[in-house]
Amino acid sequence: MARVVVEGLTKRFGRVVAVQDFNLEVAEGELVSLLGPSGCGKTTVLRCIAGFERPDAGRILVDDRVLNDVPPERRGIGMVFQTYALFPHMTVAENIAFSLMIRGRPREEQERVVKEMVALVHLEGMEDRYPHQLSGGQRQRVALARALAMRPKVLLLDEPLSALDAKIREELRGEIRRIQKALGITTLYVTHDQEEALALSDRVVVMNMGRIEQIGTPFEIYNAPRTPFVATFVGTMNLLQGRMESDGVFRWKERTLRIRPDAVVRAGQVAYLALRPERLKVSPTPEGAPPDHNVLPGRVEWVTFLGPIGRLSVRSDGETLLVDMPSDEALRFPVGSSVWVHFHPETAQVVPQERS
Ligand code: ATP
Repeated sequence: MARVVVEGLTKRFGRVVAVQDFNLEVAEGELVSLLGPSGCGKTTVLRCIAGFERPDAGRILVDDRVLNDVPPERRGIGMVFQTYALFPHMTVAENIAFSLMIRGRPREEQERVVKEMVALVHLEGMEDRYPHQLSGGQRQRVALARALAMRPKVLLLDEPLSALDAKIREELRGEIRRIQKALGITTLYVTHDQEEALALSDRVVVMNMGRIEQIGTPFEIYNAPRTPFVATFVGTMNLLQGRMESDGVFRWKERTLRIRPDAVVRAGQVAYLALRPERLKVSPTPEGAPPDHNVLPGRVEWVTFLGPIGRLSVRSDGETLLVDMPSDEALRFPVGSSVWVHFHPETAQVVPQERS
């Protein structure tokens, strides 16, 4: 098991600053995701750690050893890419054994490792197939087995599931987590899929334009976003721009809303009130709201059927609020009807307008 430290990493491509002052510590056996939109620098961070890119500034350390000048093949790092990158003319067994083969390891060792890896990724009976005889999910299992065959200290996964369809993606993400835990291998996982990052990770690093927006557990990232970007990128969020009036009181337009006291935003500061659609309730009458709730009058703009949940879009004071509920309940609200949206003060999160 290994500890990975990235210190002050900056990487430029000409005038483009792909990554700026990136700092991260990944504990032994931890799985950390880098999450962010296309072009935010996730892959560049991974490639710097793997040794495929040279940082312009900063250091990469594994177990306190600086790796900046160590070539990729000597870093003890395994990597899996979005596209399978398997050797098409080699069988599953040969693909998995490849790294051992080029290092001249004895045939018995190669056979033993292949057997172990095939069992680990559940590909028993497929050892003699060629990549074109496998499904996309199976090919990614081979790619994972191949990356793990050399027993790397660190595993880097760059969008390994994004080329697969939804069902297989979900299945394989569970498999990756199982294998990662079983081996206790320190892992960095790049994805632009927020659900994947929340489901898989011990911690998530949310990135935007080459910089870190927030690092936290999936629960913290979802429930306590610290920037407007994190609030809106991860899940669906209603953001109401207003001002902190005093501790525990938020001013939105002409309304005074009671919220959870928050140390991050001071009185007088412009901020956003972040409200998850599933935390909002809707009643056809104002009396339907419990007395300790904040209440906002509105009108139903439209209703969206999303299977298990229904999403109401409610226009209130010139803003649209999205409210989620079981779909049979949502379908009972006619479009155009007057409603009262309400929420408990504890469910509202204040997010500073500026990066804190
Ligand atoms: P994606 O999810 O689309 O892969 P990403 O978050 O992984 O995106 P990077 O691939 O790290 O982002 O790219 C970050 C920025 O650096 C982008 O603006 C990209 O165009 C630029 N970039 C990356 N590699 C190079 C390169 N070899 N030459 C020039 N610019 C590059």
